[in-house]
Amino acid sequence: MEPILSFEQMWRDLAPVGRSAESGGYFRQPYAAAETELRAWFDEVCRSRGLEVESDELGNIVGWWRPEGVDGPGVLTGSHLDSVLDGGAYDGPLGVVSALAAIDVLRERGFVPARPVGVSVFAEEEGSRFGLACLGSRLAAGAMSWEKARELRDRDGVFLPDALVASGLEPTDADKAWDLRGRVECFVELHVEQGRDLVDRAAAVGVASEIWPHGRYRFDFTGEANHAGTTRMEDRHDPMLTYAMTALAANKQARLAGERATFGRVDVAPNGTNAVPSRVTAWLDARCATDGGLASLVAAIEKQATERADRDGTSLSMTAESVSGAVAFDAGLAGRIAADHEGGDWPIIPTMAGHDAGILSAAGIPTAMLFVRNPTGVSHSPAEHAEMADCLVGVGALADTLERLAG
Ligand SMILES: [Zn+2]
Repeated sequence: MEPILSFEQMWRDLAPVGRSAESGGYFRQPYAAAETELRAWFDEVCRSRGLEVESDELGNIVGWWRPEGVDGPGVLTGSHLDSVLDGGAYDGPLGVVSALAAIDVLRERGFVPARPVGVSVFAEEEGSRFGLACLGSRLAAGAMSWEKARELRDRDGVFLPDALVASGLEPTDADKAWDLRGRVECFVELHVEQGRDLVDRAAAVGVASEIWPHGRYRFDFTGEANHAGTTRMEDRHDPMLTYAMTALAANKQARLAGERATFGRVDVAPNGTNAVPSRVTAWLDARCATDGGLASLVAAIEKQATERADRDGTSLSMTAESVSGAVAFDAGLAGRIAADHEGGDWPIIPTMAGHDAGILSAAGIPTAMLFVRNPTGVSHSPAEHAEMADCLVGVGALADTLERLAG
């Protein structure tokens, strides 16, 4: 059997996988080479710890620590190994590596769980390939059917089942994703903080209270392609202008209301330097504290875009691609995790980022999240960071949490 690797060693082993030499960021797209390598790595480190590895045809994996005679619904912890395009090292892998290290800590303490403890890796959490965040956990929690999932296509037109086959998985027509319901007593996801709340509170770790509602919307602006030289300015129907003003309006709306609105992806046709475009498709990511706030923010942006389209002689159609409602994590569980520590209670803070934990929580599984301090708050970027000392505090915090929950 392989020797058990420390947190630091596991972290060093993962560092080069999917890393761009140019930007220093990570490209760990679901079912592509780097992510497939990470899943194989996870399988190996689980087996080296004597964990029972269970995986499904979607690429979800769990390693169970199930001492003899211990059965029934388990305590699940873990995160994801995929990244956004040019993302950071910590978003996802920190939760997976910390979970493995926390089990090592518990074994060193001589702790024997009274129920199974599982370390999970959920597939396609970021939605960076198939456009739908938390794909793996949605299927595992029964929040989405395989019939619907198998129709998903990536930007190159590759259907999800074909991508699975290409990465060595064997999807069938049957719904073979795990069904976690009834098998998991509670779920705890450790994650790098994607903000600076813990910096302001001078705390290395915190516990999540809620996730803001979040939606992704496609805006299709249609105009008329024409020559950039011969077409007089007043004769144009330029969808780029409608889009540009919409992006500014979205920013202003969200800023004034203390909300979030971002156009981070644009597709232009014909995309030529010397042509007035015929079409601009842009994707809005919007987040607010309440479901009602999100609906009115998006409606206000759409209204301004439509008014501008009238002036530009262009047209707009908007499609909501995914909308996730507010998630309030189990308050009793958060309180139980956060209370009575040496040095005082851990802070309980909200987050504006979506997570697999939100999907499991919405499916009725009592769920909590632990955050590890991020000095700059930057995430989804090569600059994402957490100090090693804080990561190790996170491992200890997760071990303490699992001891409370699985004892
Ligand atoms: Zn994440």
